[in-house]
Amino acid sequence: MQPSTALAELIHLVNLVPRDAVLEELSEPHGRGPEAEWEMLAAIDALPETLMKLKLHLREPFQGEVLYGGVRIDLDPNKQDLARKLRIKRAFERYRVIRNARENLRELFEMRAHLEQVYKDFPDEGIDGAVLMVYERAVVVIDKNYTANIRPDLFGKAIQGVDVRNIRECPVCGKVFFARRKDSVVCDPISKCAKTHSKRAERKNLMMKLRRRVNNN
Ligand SMILES: [Zn+2]
Repeated sequence: MQPSTALAELIHLVNLVPRDAVLEELSEPHGRGPEAEWEMLAAIDALPETLMKLKLHLREPFQGEVLYGGVRIDLDPNKQDLARKLRIKRAFERYRVIRNARENLRELFEMRAHLEQVYKDFPDEGIDGAVLMVYERAVVVIDKNYTANIRPDLFGKAIQGVDVRNIRECPVCGKVFFARRKDSVVCDPISKCAKTHSKRAERKNLMMKLRRRVNNN
């Protein structure tokens, strides 16, 4: 099975965020005017550096095209035009989407384990429509006729209609991946992770055997 384009994109983006890393929360700039805008720009501009600190190997396309949603931000403070402001806003939102998507997935993995337990323990409770999580991110787009359109963000688009059991987290490297087979455990069957995982399993088995032997003596 293959993930949808939206899901593949989501997985790619969230994997740029390292496991357990709490990405900086960008706050909305206080006040108005160029100072506030610069505050926001500075925060966005510092992002690649922040990510680098988290030992992320950023490639140029990520900075220029992916993170900033395909737009380059003009850093010239003398150009205070509306289009530039909208671009900044867009870049800001883009960052938040990636950040929140990673958080949402983390929550989903946690809740899913819990849900499996609930379904197992209470198979007849009729709770097949259980609320897994409340997802409230969407973009409101006002078109040229001034009509409001609610569009789900990257996470919303990617997750719609997906069997969430197929989205998994590699126990070795922490990357999110789409399970192409039911028994997929690690991100890639021909990766280091697969080797590490089987070694760990072997060691665990060995330890259990040893423990049993000790207990029997
Ligand atoms: Zn892995």
